[in-house]
This record gives sequence, structure tokens and C-alpha cells, in this order.
Amino acid sequence: MTIPEQQINSSSLSAPLVLAGAGHAHLVAIRVWAEAGLRVPEGSVLVSPTSKAWYSGMMPGMIAGRFTPEACAIDLQPLCKKVGLRLISVGIASCHASEKRLELTDGASLSYKVLSINTGSQPPTLTSDGSIQQVPAKPFPAFKEQWQYWMHEAPSRLTVVGGGAAAFELTLALQKSLPHTKTSLVFNGRLLDGHSRHLQALAGRLLRNRGVSVYEQTRVTRIEQGRLWAEGQALPDTGALVLATGARALPWYADSGLQQDDDGFLAVGNTLQSKNHPDVFVSGDAATLMSTAKPHPRSGVYAVRHGPVIAHNVLASFSADSLQTFQPQRQALALLATADGGALMSYGRFSAGTAWLRPLLGRWKDYLDLEFMRRHRL
Ligand SMILES: Cc1cc2nc3c(=O)[nH]c(=O)nc-3n(C[C@H](O)[C@H](O)[C@H](O)COP(=O)(O)OP(=O)(O)OC[C@H]3O[C@@H](n4cnc5c(N)ncnc54)[C@H](O)[C@@H]3O)c2cc1C
Repeated sequence: MTIPEQQINSSSLSAPLVLAGAGHAHLVAIRVWAEAGLRVPEGSVLVSPTSKAWYSGMMPGMIAGRFTPEACAIDLQPLCKKVGLRLISVGIASCHASEKRLELTDGASLSYKVLSINTGSQPPTLTSDGSIQQVPAKPFPAFKEQWQYWMHEAPSRLTVVGGGAAAFELTLALQKSLPHTKTSLVFNGRLLDGHSRHLQALAGRLLRNRGVSVYEQTRVTRIEQGRLWAEGQALPDTGALVLATGARALPWYADSGLQQDDDGFLAVGNTLQSKNHPDVFVSGDAATLMSTAKPHPRSGVYAVRHGPVIAHNVLASFSADSLQTFQPQRQALALLATADGGALMSYGRFSAGTAWLRPLLGRWKDYLDLEFMRRHRL
């Protein structure tokens, strides 16, 4: 059940368990509870700005015209109903961990006994005089709306900033969906840094073959007078700018009272509990696991892996059960969509993606993505 906004506005709510955000980890946790026939303590809530959870892994495929928007979204109502959660369709404005309280974006206050945060991250924006609109790749619904606008009113030139997997996939997808737009990709350092040289070469070739202008080793420092500037040098004009520049902590984490890492992400131990507030769990991009020498990357794969541990530990904190620990896998499989139904594959130092293999890898990626969606549509 969605609580009507008027009701939320006029009251201070209190819940034994608050799930903040419908990210990958919470979707998995709710599905695990549902499959086990478990219910959350009565009065528990899920706080999410939208009544759907959007799956970013399929967003490039949607832009490339391979999936409808509906295919990329999971309706939260049936999931919540199954485990006894109430869905509150509003955002979180701030967290006051020492008072065990959240402020919501409609001005209401929400107290909790146990809080689980899975609100993700957002790409960092560029220093700008406002002369070019910056369009972050996340959140998904806002990006989708901008892309739908471009489908009617395409810019003559479009630049994607970022050199990671999301930037690569989005560039190919936008190039396909806006064929009359001149598309560029600009990034500092190497394309797909951290992946094998073989994969980097395959990806670079693919971009150039599709007519994308690639600017490597180009650190964009600012936007001024309608141009992108990279260390004193102006880049070619652009009418639109997409930011796929990695993950930055959401601003409200800073004043939450929850311990953070050097970049403002929320610090957790191997039980995914906040380092200084054990009544708060954090998962997905929002969390930095401090118990390993090198924290694992922020990606959907790791967020999904957090899910079963969150499912167990959150309910265990209402009983005498002991908590589970999260052991990150050393490497994660990455399948990078190439906007034509194909994909490149990367696993540690191993990579693949020659022309004859790409369609098969693409079918594998589709299978994994569609299976994830199917399992979470109860
Ligand atoms: C285009 C693109 C493609 C990607 N493809 C892949 C891929 O193929 N594989 C992969 O592993 N990773 C991929 N990623 C990275 C992946 O999207 C993230 O790492 C992953 O989404 C993180 O999951 P999460 O559970 O932390 O949160 P998310 O899935 O980002 O969800 C966060 C949730 O929190 C909600 N939220 C945000 N702010 C608030 C607030 N203030 N109050 C309440 N709720 C809030 C949002 O509405 C959202 O529901 C991709 C990223 C992009 C941009």
C-alpha cells in the first residue's frame, strides 16, 4: 500500500524497520524474504522516490531500442505486499543516525529501530558556468526522460564524459538511437581502465567503427561559454553532455552522523553494519567495505551480492540470530552491451568480443538481465 502524500506530510512516522531506497540489494533482500515466506516486523516501510525500481544494466539496451522502458522496471507494490512492507513514495532528505531518524523530502520525519540504506550513488558533475546542460546517467528515470526528449529534438552534437563500462555502453546506445547526432566520448586516462588491454582495444575499435570521436587522456576541467575545456584546451562544440563519470556519494550521507570513507561513502564492516551505528546497515554503491585491504568496486554485481546478507542480517537484528558476513568475490563478470544485441566480456585478465562471438555474449547478457527481472516480478 502507498501512503498518500497528505498523510505523510502531516505526521511523524515511526517504523521498526526502514528500508531506504529500492536499489539492487533491497530488491534481492525482499525477494529472498518472499521466497522464504518471511515477513518484516509489522509497520516496516520501504522509502523510494518512485514506485518502480529501475534496472540500470538494461538502460543502454533500452536506449538502443532493444527494450521498452517497462521491461527495465520492477513494480515495487507486489514485492512489498508479499513481505508486509508499506511503500512510501518519497525521497530521503537527511539522516540523523544519533536520533535514529530520517527527514523525508516532503518535510515529514521517520523514526526507526533498524535502518537499511541502499540508495546508490550519482555521477560527479563538472565545474560549469551553466552554459551546457549536464545530464547524469543516474538516476535512471530522469535520464530516460531526457533521452525521450532527445528522440524528438535531437542535439546536433552530444558528448559523453567517462571512460568506464557505463560510458562505453551509453555512448554506443546513444549513437545508435540518435543517428544524426555527432557523438563524442571524452575521458581521462585509458578507456575501460582496469580491464585487459585486449578488451580496451576491442572497445576502442568498436567506438571508432561506429563513427564516435574518442578523446582519450583528456581530463575535462570545466564547462565555460558553451564549450568543454580540458586543461586550457577547448574541445569541439557540443549541444548536450552526458555524465557517466563514475560514482559519487549522495550529499545527505555527509551529515548523517554515519562514519564515512575519504570519499564520503558510508563505512561498513563485513556484516554490512555501519562502523559507528550497528543499527544501520548499508549496501550497494552507498557502502564501502572497510574489512578488506582494497574495497571492492561499486557495481550492480556487488550490490546484488550484498542482498542475501542484508536479507539475513536485517531480520536477525530483531531476533537472537547471529549475523552473516559478506565475503566479496575477487573478480566479477562484466558483459558490456554493444547496442546491436551483442556484448564484450571481461573477467579479470580474461576478455572476449571478436565479431563472431559478440552475438553469443549478447544473448548471455540478455539471459542474465531478463532472468534478474523475472525473478523480482512476483
Ligand atoms: C548506464 C549504466 C549501466 C550500468 N550497467 C551495469 C551493469 O551492466 N552491471 C553492473 O554491475 N553495474 C552496472 N552499472 C552500475 C550500477 O548501476 C550500480 O553500481 C548499481 O545500480 C548500484 O546499485 P545500488 O543497489 O547501490 O543502488 P541503485 O540500483 O542505484 O538504486 C538506488 C535506489 O535508491 C533510490 N534513491 C536514491 N536516492 C534516494 C533518496 N534520497 N531517498 C530514497 N531513495 C533514494 C533510487 O531511486 C534507487 O531506487 C551501470 C550503471 C549505469 C549508469
